Amino acid sequence: MPATLMNQRDIEFMLYELFDSEALINRERYQDHDRHTFNEVVNTAKAIAEKHFLPIRQKLDTHQPTFDGKKVHLIPELKPAIEAVNASGIGSATADYDLGGMQLPPIIACAAGAYLSVAGGVGMGYNMLTTANANLLEAHGSEALIETWVKPMREGRFMGTMAMTEPGSGSGLGDLSTKALKADDGSYRISGNKIFISGGDHDLSENIVHLVLARVQGAPKGVKGISLFVVPKFLVNADGSIGEDNEVALAGLFHKMGGRAQTSTALNFGEKNGSVGYLVGEENCGLKYMFHMMNEARIMIGTSGAVLAVAGYQYSVDYAKNRPQGRLPSCKDPLSPMVNIIEHADVKRMLLAQKSYAEGALSLVFYGTQLSDDSRTAPTQQQREYAHTLLDFLTPIIKTWPSEYGPKANSLAIQVLGGHGYINEHPVEMFYRDNRLNPIHEGTTGIQSLDLMTRKLPMNKMQGYLATLDEIYKTIEEAKQYDNLQEFTEQLTEAVDTLKLTTQAVLTAMSTQNIDLALANSVKYLELFGQVIIAWLWLKQAIVATKALAEQPHQDDESFYKGKLQALQYFYRFELPKIALWSSLLLNSDSSTYDMQVDWF
Ligand SMILES: Cc1cc2nc3c(=O)[nH]c(=O)nc-3n(C[C@H](O)[C@H](O)[C@H](O)COP(=O)(O)OP(=O)(O)OC[C@H]3O[C@@H](n4cnc5c(N)ncnc54)[C@H](O)[C@@H]3O)c2cc1C
Repeated sequence: MPATLMNQRDIEFMLYELFDSEALINRERYQDHDRHTFNEVVNTAKAIAEKHFLPIRQKLDTHQPTFDGKKVHLIPELKPAIEAVNASGIGSATADYDLGGMQLPPIIACAAGAYLSVAGGVGMGYNMLTTANANLLEAHGSEALIETWVKPMREGRFMGTMAMTEPGSGSGLGDLSTKALKADDGSYRISGNKIFISGGDHDLSENIVHLVLARVQGAPKGVKGISLFVVPKFLVNADGSIGEDNEVALAGLFHKMGGRAQTSTALNFGEKNGSVGYLVGEENCGLKYMFHMMNEARIMIGTSGAVLAVAGYQYSVDYAKNRPQGRLPSCKDPLSPMVNIIEHADVKRMLLAQKSYAEGALSLVFYGTQLSDDSRTAPTQQQREYAHTLLDFLTPIIKTWPSEYGPKANSLAIQVLGGHGYINEHPVEMFYRDNRLNPIHEGTTGIQSLDLMTRKLPMNKMQGYLATLDEIYKTIEEAKQYDNLQEFTEQLTEAVDTLKLTTQAVLTAMSTQNIDLALANSVKYLELFGQVIIAWLWLKQAIVATKALAEQPHQDDESFYKGKLQALQYFYRFELPKIALWSSLLLNSDSSTYDMQVDWF
């Protein structure tokens, strides 16, 4: 089977036709670039993915990292692959020039990263966490922290982690108990246990920079008493060389169903004298700073959900085109040749569902990535604030919809391959296993849905919600110009009416009812909202396709655009109508789950 990573035509469509990335070169920050350099970066990532990661992907999946009591062992091929990414500069593509970056737009880095993620399993997770860690420190750290820790991370010499979770504190970070004690020299001594820390130990870099959430002695209980610290594996001497061991002990490695290239570690901090930690920003504001990294990581996780869905879709399309099996119901002649399974309507159903989920999710994560860029680099302050408002509101959906629908797409890819999909000769079962983490980490789906309803919806007098509706209405108005899109504009208008009615109902329920009951179906609200957002983005894609088809493109492009319109139709007829059921549950404050008693299970 050809190892198709991503659909290059679709990446170009997303970058240049759906989101006008080429226009970004008019911004001062990106003035040194043009479409040619953007393509060069994406092509370089693709070449590294194919040369360094793809050949080791299966080995990474089947050879989990091991710990011999002293050191972690990864397969030796991973280090040169990561070094190839660092040498290309893609590892810190979006960073400022003076910090060793290339000042590329995040949407281009996201497209480049898609190839590397799909080819390398989560081998690229080390780089991604490092980038997000460095970005947080750049935004909230002192000059000294940036000089000491960010620079070597940008150069690829150090790597970073985010260390929040503890055995007794997962979704509920307010209960974390890692301690920080202020020392005479202004630094802190950190002690406590963290679990599930990705990239918490390995031999891929000279040092590991942990961003640790801890509670300073005497701090208030709950989230208001959490501070953030840089706690390196090794201290660094005044001249920047590696110094003493900092009492960050690896207590063990977790073995996982997927994502096996990346170590998942239990870390014990400061078992003897306390690990040296350097405060980021102010005491007790740690969670606010960590949200910088978490929000970025949430878009990355949505992206992982989307690109793994694309990879499974691509793979199962190729397979279905080449697997002869059975005949169409209309053919009764046993001597006639078998058809390739892609001819069977039910296989087409599974491929269309995957396409609608995968390319819908991809458009959402590119949209989110562009918003995050706009919130920093759009020409006017007003535009930057508007982008920030939209992004802040949509983050739970950008994280969750691709995370939930990505594994659904991968499950369908397995089904398309039949028994061949269930065995590990084909990567689709691995995509599923890798993708299954995404609805869990960085705030589970349940937690994201509570965040959407209780924080994001009412925030700033519902500005994020209202701005999102405005954006959807703009697209509906534009789509009304095209006869072939009438059915869909009407349906999306009705879907937005349903969303508005449901939103009003949940807000009323939250202010008048028992809050536990009012939030009992929050995941259905998030799913409903997500479904409307994906329907909206499909309509946006359909407008582009409709316009392009009117120009009579050459045959390959004609098929590409017609495929977009068919996926739109599938999503609107098979998927969007599901919101009616979810809405009725929410409108009636259905109490089926709330009423269930613990001892009835
Ligand atoms: C492979 C892997 C990598 C990870 N990487 C990192 C990392 O790098 N850094 C880091 O700090 N952490 C990391 N994590 C931890 C991850 O973020 C947590 O697993 C996640 O936040 C959930 O916490 P938990 O596992 O303790 O589950 P719990 O919090 O026990 O949740 C279990 C279930 O209960 C539900 N639940 C819990 N509380 C509520 C509530 N209030 N309302 C409704 N439902 C609720 C959840 O939605 C979930 O379904 C990683 C985890 C894994 C598995």
